[in-house]
Amino acid sequence: MDEFALIERHFRRPLRDPAVRVGIGDDAAVVAPAPGCELAVAVDMLVEGRHFLPGADAAALGHKALAVNLSDMAAMGATPRWALLAGALPDDDERWLSAFTEGLFALAQQHGVALIGGDTTRGPRNLCLTIIGELPAGTAITRSGASAGDDIHVSGSLGDAALALAALQQRTKLGAATLATLRLRLETPEPRVVLGQRLRGIASAAIDVSDGLSGDLAHILEASSVGAEIELARLPCAPALSLRLASGERELALACLLAGGDDYELCFTAPPSARGRLADIAVELALTLTHVGTVTATPGLRVRDEHGSVLDALPRSFDHFR
Ligand code: ADP
Ligand code: MG
Repeated sequence: MDEFALIERHFRRPLRDPAVRVGIGDDAAVVAPAPGCELAVAVDMLVEGRHFLPGADAAALGHKALAVNLSDMAAMGATPRWALLAGALPDDDERWLSAFTEGLFALAQQHGVALIGGDTTRGPRNLCLTIIGELPAGTAITRSGASAGDDIHVSGSLGDAALALAALQQRTKLGAATLATLRLRLETPEPRVVLGQRLRGIASAAIDVSDGLSGDLAHILEASSVGAEIELARLPCAPALSLRLASGERELALACLLAGGDDYELCFTAPPSARGRLADIAVELALTLTHVGTVTATPGLRVRDEHGSVLDALPRSFDHFR
């Protein structure tokens, strides 16, 4: 199959989005943003051997390639609209391509995202997805808006993906049912897109937890020139993880909770006056939102343990170049 046949067959799907004036098949896509909207644009790369292992499930990979980008849109409060996919593929394996696009398009459809272009080349497997979202002008939630006195919240639960990974790498043992549940969080994360949009005008700052809470929250603190105190006992996590916090595996549990990447939850700050509205949003979206700490004028991140003492060393978040 030649390159163009491959694109036609696997990547070009009927478009129902009237805002896409020109889609796949021309030199560039043309889209018409809604009047009064700004565009939020992000790109993320998944590299074989780095972000996923050779032989990784292709459908899960298709899901994840888009999910990590949707999560960036969520963190900005943007509505994801259009995506471009640049892919290097070692071959034109039909089964792989079908499974990959099935995972990708299922999630795209769920969020109303249209694939409007890309680039396809032969090479070591590498998937690079660009996403474009819309938001009313001036309403983006950035990392720099947190103020001393704001509450710090996180959505969902933390450390699930990292605990699943630890079990898959035989660093801990999980029951089959628990592993199956947590593994879904690692392999097919559900980006908090609707939550992000609902946080516009409420959250003062936000970030998605892709590298681990301590590192990701530190980005908000730095960008906002503030510090924070969070309480370990308040961090929302799976029972399998809280059990480990109180056991011989405390070290591992701390690493999962504070530095475990890949959860794609949102960490955001908001004034205490927003608590009522946040409680309503949590009910409406059937999603737990947990108040885990407070923004402080004193710089730095302090994590208090179950007895109120500040942890003296925080596990490190993921960094490709450290
Ligand atoms: P050009 O040579 O102008 O860069 P290409 O031959 O690379 O164009 O691509 C032809 C068309 O197919 C373009 O519209 C491009 O956006 C689209 N395309 C290529 N690869 C992909 C892909 N993996 N997913 C979606 N669209 C793609
Ligand atoms: Mg090209």
